Amino acid sequence: MSLPKGELPPNRARRKTKVKRVTTLIVAVSVFLSMFSPWLTSTAQAAPGNYLIVLDPGDGGVVGATGPTGLQEKVVNLDIALRVRDRLVGAGYRVIMTRDSDNPVSLAQRVDIANRNNASVFVSIHTNAVSNREVHGTETYFSSRGAPYGFHLANHIQSRVVINTGSQSRGVKDGAFFVLTHTTMPAALQEGEFISNPDKEALLRTDAFRDKIAQGIFEGIVNFLNEYGAATISPTNYTYRAAYNDYQRTPSSLSPGQQVSFPFAVRNLSNFTWSSSPPNQVNLSYHLYDSRGRMVTSLNGLRSPLPRNVAPGEVVEFTATIQAPTSSGNFTIAFDMVHEGVAWFSQKGAGMERRTFSVGGVAPVAPIILAVAPSPAEKSPSVSKE
Ligand SMILES: [Zn+2]
Repeated sequence: MSLPKGELPPNRARRKTKVKRVTTLIVAVSVFLSMFSPWLTSTAQAAPGNYLIVLDPGDGGVVGATGPTGLQEKVVNLDIALRVRDRLVGAGYRVIMTRDSDNPVSLAQRVDIANRNNASVFVSIHTNAVSNREVHGTETYFSSRGAPYGFHLANHIQSRVVINTGSQSRGVKDGAFFVLTHTTMPAALQEGEFISNPDKEALLRTDAFRDKIAQGIFEGIVNFLNEYGAATISPTNYTYRAAYNDYQRTPSSLSPGQQVSFPFAVRNLSNFTWSSSPPNQVNLSYHLYDSRGRMVTSLNGLRSPLPRNVAPGEVVEFTATIQAPTSSGNFTIAFDMVHEGVAWFSQKGAGMERRTFSVGGVAPVAPIILAVAPSPAEKSPSVSKE
C-alpha cells in the first residue's frame, strides 16, 4: 500500500406435474451452480444491476512502492482492479473505476467519486510493502470509523482472496485510511500480497496470480452483496423524510409568468445520503395548484438540484426557483423532494410543504401553511443555517 503517513489518521394434476418439473429444474440448476460456483453464498436478494461498485486502484502517477526487481505497486493495483471490473461487469454489476490509467487521483477525488455516485460498495485495491523482505501474506482493511458494514465487506473479501491465492491470511484489520473513513457506503481496502517479498513479487508479475487475487475480490464483493446488500443498501429499505426549514422566504405575491429565485433550506431526515448527481440524485421539486386544487400542469416538473451530497441529519441551503402561472389568481405551491427514478418523498409518507401566493394584482392572501413538515422539532426557525 505504502501511502504517505499523513493518510493514516486513521390446472391441478397438470399443475402438480408442472410444479414438480419446475422444482426439479430448480434443484438441477442449483446443483449445477453449486458445482461450478462453490463460493456463492446462499441467497441472491437483488439483481446485480441494482448495485454500483466503485473500484479504487491504489496509488497512480508517481512511483510508489516498488519490488526488489522493480515491479511497481501502482501497475499491479490497476491491473488487478481491471480484472475485478471485468468479472463484475460480466456478472451484470455496474462498476466505476476511480482511475483506469496511470493518472494520479487524490484521495478526496476517490472518495468523491464513490459518494457522488451513491455507490453500493467501495473497494480499494493495493499491494503491500515493508522493509523486511521475508514478510508475506494478504490482509484486508475496514474502518470502525467508516460507514456500517465495512467489516463484513472486508471479511468476505479476505476469506475469498485467501482461498483463491493460498496466501497466508494476515486477517481483517481496522485501519483509519482516508478512503475508508470518508466514504458513505461499506468500504474495504485489500492488500493482495507483499511486493517487497522477492517470491511474491515474482508471483505478482504473473497473469495467473493476479487473476487469483481478482477472483477472490470479485467473489468477496458478490458474497457480501448477496448477504447484506438487500438488508443494508437496497432502495426498498430507504426511508424518505425531509424537513423544509426555510419555506417562509417563498414570495407571497408575483406577477404573471414571473420567475423568482429565493434561498431554501431542507434537512435530510432520510436514512441515506442524498446524492446531488445522477442517476438517483435527490432534487427539490415544485407543484403548482390553482385555487380549486387543480395542478397547473404547464409548470409541473420544475426542479432545484442539491449543490452537494447531503448526509442524514444535515441541513443544506440552496436556491429554489419557481415560475408564476401566466394567469392571475391565487395559487398554492407544494414543495416535494424526489429521489429521481426511485421515489417521490410524498408517496412514501413524507409531508410536502405548501404555501399560497397571489399572481397578477389579485388581492394577496396571507401566506398559509397547509401541511406540516415531518418533525415538529425541525420547525424551529433557527435550524435553517448550520
Ligand atoms: Zn498502495
